[in-house]
Amino acid sequence: MRKKLVAGNWKMHGGLQRNEVLLEEIKSEASGLGCEIAVFAPYPYLPQLQSILSGSVVAWGAQSVSEYAAGAFTGEVSASMLVEFGCRYVLVGHSERRSLFGETDDEVAAKFEAAQRSGLIPVLCVGETLAERELGATAAVVSRQIGAVLNRVGVEALGLSVLAYEPVWAIGTGVTASPRQAQDVHAAIRAQVSLLNAGVASGLRILYGGSVKPQNAEELFAQGDIDGGLIGGAALVADDFLAICRSAN
Ligand code: PEP
Repeated sequence: MRKKLVAGNWKMHGGLQRNEVLLEEIKSEASGLGCEIAVFAPYPYLPQLQSILSGSVVAWGAQSVSEYAAGAFTGEVSASMLVEFGCRYVLVGHSERRSLFGETDDEVAAKFEAAQRSGLIPVLCVGETLAERELGATAAVVSRQIGAVLNRVGVEALGLSVLAYEPVWAIGTGVTASPRQAQDVHAAIRAQVSLLNAGVASGLRILYGGSVKPQNAEELFAQGDIDGGLIGGAALVADDFLAICRSAN
């Protein structure tokens, strides 16, 4: 039985005071919710997350990580640094990293590997653009993005991660994939992994992300292959985020 995970991606939002209020509200309700909860914050706030969330059931992580372990890489943040600030998870391959910052499938795979080498759990984000969906290329795109990671680390390592299917056309747009559309892609991802290792596939958590709100979360999370959500905008409002977490139960 896969335990549902609901994770908030704050993107480049936040501020020390706002964060404190939000985190305290999440923390105060989190233990009774029955799902796993995580928060992905900008790097400078990780010490704040560590200080407020340590000892609670809420995990935290960063939104990206360097593929390099250490060295002359100005502006980069290594996986071992994230571990020092108590991170359990790290996002890799979010569509904004891929589209706005040019991260390729191979770079995402390298980041995935670097994260695991330091003991982090990567949350590998995959998903197609609207143009790709309209061309009927959804399955091929998602399979290629996952394939790059499989080629680099193998299926057993993939089993030590979390996947997030996030159709690019649904991220931050208010347009959500229908539960059927999402379930179809989640099932295809599990089938792809199952061809290599059925045990890994059945244990792998696959989150859905893309305009999840309190109003649509329950139906999405009720689908057989949807194991929780990666939440952007709604993760910045405690009541909404907590309502989404409740829907995972
Ligand atoms: C995201 O940033 O991963 C995301 C899913 O955003 P939103 O929920 O705002 O669409």
